[in-house]
Amino acid sequence: MKLWMNGKLVDGAQGVVSVFDHGLLYGDGVFEGIRIYHGRIFRCPAHLDRLFASAEAIRLKIPMTKTQVEQAIYETLRADGAKDTYVRLVVTRGPGNLGLNPYQCKHPTVFIIVDQIELYPKEMYETGMAVIIAKTRRTDASMVPPSVKSLNYLNNILARMEAVDAGVPEAMMLNARGDLAEATGDNIFIVKDATVITPPPEAGILVGVTRGVVIELCAKLSLSLREQAVSVAELYTADECFLTGTAAEVIPVTRVDHRGIGTGKPGAVTLRLVKAFRELIRAEAR
Ligand code: PMP
Repeated sequence: MKLWMNGKLVDGAQGVVSVFDHGLLYGDGVFEGIRIYHGRIFRCPAHLDRLFASAEAIRLKIPMTKTQVEQAIYETLRADGAKDTYVRLVVTRGPGNLGLNPYQCKHPTVFIIVDQIELYPKEMYETGMAVIIAKTRRTDASMVPPSVKSLNYLNNILARMEAVDAGVPEAMMLNARGDLAEATGDNIFIVKDATVITPPPEAGILVGVTRGVVIELCAKLSLSLREQAVSVAELYTADECFLTGTAAEVIPVTRVDHRGIGTGKPGAVTLRLVKAFRELIRAEAR
């Protein structure tokens, strides 16, 4: 496996970062997870815009332009050879000393991994997924803002452990107000009375690239869509529910906390969006 590491292609085993790297010591850094369909970067501008916005939010200067980052991804993909795969792009504060102060880290570390991502089992896209609502709340926007895709994922990891302990693959997280924010690695949508509803950025979410694509698809399919706060009661009584994410794509949710959602089967609107999403991937890869 090839990695891109600070400007050089290296073999996977040689891809090492210093133990003094603040990405490791403090989770001080940002990242992106990106899909490659038919050899092309899916929604590259959206991912690069989010990466650079996340970096700016934590006052981290990425030592490359967006074009250079894109070229580096393609260089890594050529070395890897896979056409349908996943890219993890990471920028850390870089090596420093053991103190917190990020200003002593002079050289950010940039690396790119190309590897297959573990998707949910194929049948889950047909039968639907069961999730729980985690007791761990999503960090408030006044803390580490969820809109920043930072290397600090402990908040999500704590919630994901609750899911795994409950025997389900994913957990939904509430914000401090008690409304739905997002799942640990995906955004949440519900469908009620033929309207597609998703929590707004102010609910404290990572504004997902896939979420954006689904919002576009709703317009294309003339489905009415609202970005608005969703309560737990509204989720429990929704007609349909689904999650979106780079790795998950669009996946139906049919059980939340052991309660069936709607008919307990993937809903018609969800299945239309799953199909439209797959068609869009094919169209954009051409
Ligand atoms: N929320 C969180 C917390 C995430 O980590 C992700 C990405 N895995 C998403 C939402 C979905 O974002 P995207 O569609 O850009 O992958």
